[in-house]
Amino acid sequence: MVKLLHDCDADLNALNGKTIAVIGYGAQGRSQALSMRDSGLNVIIGIRPGASHDTAVSDGFEVLSVADASAKADIIHILLPDEAHKSVYENEIQPSMTAGKTFSCSHGFSIIFGFIAPPEDVDIILVAPKGPGTEVRKAFLDGFGCPGLISVHKDASGSAKDTALCMAKAQGLTRAGVLECTFEQETYEDLFGEQNVLCGGLVDLMKYGFETLTDAGYPPEMAYFECVHEVKLIVDLIFEGGIQKMNAVVSNTAEWGEYVNGPRIITPDVKERMKESLNDIETGKFAREWMEEAAAGCPNLLAKREAIGSHLVEITGKKVRDLFEKK
Ligand code: NDP
Ligand code: MG
Repeated sequence: MVKLLHDCDADLNALNGKTIAVIGYGAQGRSQALSMRDSGLNVIIGIRPGASHDTAVSDGFEVLSVADASAKADIIHILLPDEAHKSVYENEIQPSMTAGKTFSCSHGFSIIFGFIAPPEDVDIILVAPKGPGTEVRKAFLDGFGCPGLISVHKDASGSAKDTALCMAKAQGLTRAGVLECTFEQETYEDLFGEQNVLCGGLVDLMKYGFETLTDAGYPPEMAYFECVHEVKLIVDLIFEGGIQKMNAVVSNTAEWGEYVNGPRIITPDVKERMKESLNDIETGKFAREWMEEAAAGCPNLLAKREAIGSHLVEITGKKVRDLFEKK
């Protein structure tokens, strides 16, 4: 049984006198930087000019270029898009990654797949909230926190875990509970989850459901309610009390339908394809292909993004949400 680490396992004083440079000020960067500052840690921001830069300035941070922030900091916490890690690291961070410093991130992608290799005398840690930045920050402000993961890949200083736990506590993660794992586990499981269940998987399931109903002539608005909108209500119940709680709340008819039809839709061969996906992740095939796509300017990503934007499910969803907002 894995052990959850809580506030009592972490010391906010572990980073007294140290400076953390949060590199990137997007979804995770802003949320993590604000909460760590609120908890008394010394946080500066490293970011290129642009929208994120301006937000960091108006949030009252000391905002520097990525190179200058990295030079000034003891802990360099990289919260850039994964596909940008390698080039920003090589061009702006590497010269500052000197003995005794800490390389930190929220997703092990660049380290595990070898896009970044910090020197031997540098700590390598991971502090990752298990949730989108805005939600993590909301939970922190509510006095609670989002669960998270910490990992130590390289403990050159002998205190790498204390650093990770201190940052996790400062973000409110140890209020909910933090799991210690390996970089490999975090990276592979995170990619697997988002590709097979959470984003890929769920989105296709909802889209097929929506298309089946609308192809058969049912009104798109009703199909949207059934196959997209209600997903949240069902997931909220599972989140609260598991599958049995959800089954207890839906009608017996719905529960019976789940048992007889669910396994006809999601058949055991899905697991075979999930195993193939896990293999592509573990062998680095997925990472290589994604970095190639990013290096080419993301032509396929942009085309897919455009295609989903013009799909009837999204057009209907916007209409339905607008109706809600008018009330
Ligand atoms: P975002 O896309 O929200 O933010 C990225 C930030 O990096 C922005 O501030 C952006 O600034 C900046 N940036 C982008 N390219 C460059 C560049 N070339 N040079 C300098 N700055 C740049 O990313 P996320 O916050 O979602 O993700 C950051 C990390 O956190 C990733 O490693 C991700 O895997 C991890 N993570 C994300 C989670 C999530 O739910 N989103 C959950 C847990 C971990 P600009 O405004 O100028 O573009
Ligand atoms: Mg994820």
